[in-house]
Amino acid sequence: MSTEGFNPFRMAQAQFDKIADQLDLDESTRELLRNPMREYQFSIPVRMDDGMVKVFRGFRVQHNDSRGPCKGGIRFHPQETIDTVRALATWMTWKCAVVDIPLGGGKGGVICDPHNLSMREQEQICRGWVRQLAKNVGPLSDVPAPDVMTSAQHMLWMLDEFEQIHGAKYPGFITGKPVGMGGSLGRTEATGYGVIFTVREALKQMNLKPENHTMSVQGFGNVAQYAIKLYDQLGGKTICVSCWDQNDSTSYSFKKADGIDIDALLKITDRFGGIDKDKARDIGYEVLPGDAWIEQDVGVLMPAALENQVTAETIQKVQGGVKIIAEGANGPTTPEADAVISERGIFNIPDFLANAGGVTCSYFEQVQCNMNYFWEKEEVLDRLDTKMTSAFIAVSDLAKKQNLYMRDAAYIIAVGRVAQACRDRGWV
Ligand code: NAD
Repeated sequence: MSTEGFNPFRMAQAQFDKIADQLDLDESTRELLRNPMREYQFSIPVRMDDGMVKVFRGFRVQHNDSRGPCKGGIRFHPQETIDTVRALATWMTWKCAVVDIPLGGGKGGVICDPHNLSMREQEQICRGWVRQLAKNVGPLSDVPAPDVMTSAQHMLWMLDEFEQIHGAKYPGFITGKPVGMGGSLGRTEATGYGVIFTVREALKQMNLKPENHTMSVQGFGNVAQYAIKLYDQLGGKTICVSCWDQNDSTSYSFKKADGIDIDALLKITDRFGGIDKDKARDIGYEVLPGDAWIEQDVGVLMPAALENQVTAETIQKVQGGVKIIAEGANGPTTPEADAVISERGIFNIPDFLANAGGVTCSYFEQVQCNMNYFWEKEEVLDRLDTKMTSAFIAVSDLAKKQNLYMRDAAYIIAVGRVAQACRDRGWV
C-alpha cells in the first residue's frame, strides 16, 4: 500500500468540491474554503551533535479561522510535503466544525526523521520551528499540538521557546503538553477512545454488539492502541494489527484469531508503534504481509496508520462480513474506494468525525489552561464521550434523513457551519 503519486490536498479539494455543489455554495465561498488562508514555509538551521549545521524545512498552514483560532498538530516526517500539510489543515477545519468546537483548522510539519535524530537535535528543531513562527501562532490565533512522531516533550520545548520569546506564560499556546505542565488527563487516550465511541454508536444503531464483531486495525501507534483497549473493554476483540518495520522498510500484519492481548503486544512494541516480529512469533502471533489487516473477515476495519490505504485496489480485498470502516487515520480512503464502500452498504465513519476525539480533548486542555483548573480523567473522558456521541448522532441522523453516505453528511454539517461563519463575519 504505497502513498507514492498520491496528493492528499487534491483529494481534500475533490471532497470539498462535491459538497460545495451539494450545498450550492457561491463562487467566493468556494474560492475561500478550497484553499488555505495562510501558509508559512521556512528553514530551520540546527547544529547537529557532530558539530555540522543541517537545515530542515518547516511548514505551518492555517486553512480557516472563521470559527476560532486555528488548531492542528505538527508532524515530523521524512516524506512531509506542503500538500500533505495543506490537506491536513483543511481536514482540521472540518473536524473542529463537525464536533462543534470553536476552533479553525491548521497543521504544521518538519521534513525530518526522528528515528535518526538525538533528543537534543529534536529539541533544536522544535525551538527553531517556534522562532520562525512566534508572531504568527499563539493562544488566540493558532494553537499547535502533537501529531505523527511528535510528543508531549516536543510540545513542552515549543511552549518554553514561545514563552521565552514573549516573556510571559502562555499555557494555552500549545496542547498535548505533559500532565502536570498544563496537559490534560485523558489526551493520550482521547483519539483512540473517540473512534470507539463512534463505533459503539454505529453498532448500536445497527442492533449489533461488539462481542459478536471482531476488529482488524492498520497501525499500532497511539490511536490504534487506545482504540483496541476500549474495544476490549466493551467486550469486542481485535484479531489483527499491522505496523511499519523500520529495519525492513516494509509493513507487516500480526494476527491472533482468538484475539490479540494488547498488554503482551505492547511489551514488544517500540515507541514508534513497531512490533518485534520474532518476539511476536514467540508469543503465538502469525506474522503476515502488511496488507493482510484489510483482508480479515471481521465486523470492523480500522485504518489507523496513514493516508491513502483504502483504495480502488485494496477495497476489493475487503470481506463480505465487514459492517463498519472506522477511520482512525486522516485521509485513509480515496474517493474511488468511497464509491465502492457506499455501493456495498458498508457503514463508513469518516476520519474527521471518527478521529476528532484528539482535537476535542485538546480543546478541553485549552479550556482547563484558561481556567487554570484541571479536571479528573473521568470528567475529561465523560465530556469527550458526550461530544463525540452527539456529533456522531447529528451526522448519522442527517445521513438517514437525506439518504447520504456518512462522509457526505459529515461534510455537509461541517462545511455548512464554516461557510455560515464566513458569511456572518462578512468575509463572503
Ligand atoms: P503513531 O506514530 O503513534 O503510530 C502510527 C502507526 O502506524 C505505527 O504503529 C506505525 O508502525 C504504523 N504504520 C506506519 N506506516 C505503516 C504502514 N505502511 N503500514 C502499516 N502500519 C504503518 O501515529 P498515531 O498518532 O497513532 O496516528 C495515526 C494516524 O491517526 C495518522 O493518520 C494521524 O494523522 C491520525 N490522527 C492521530 C491523532 C492523535 O491524536 N494521535 C488524532 C487524529 C488523527
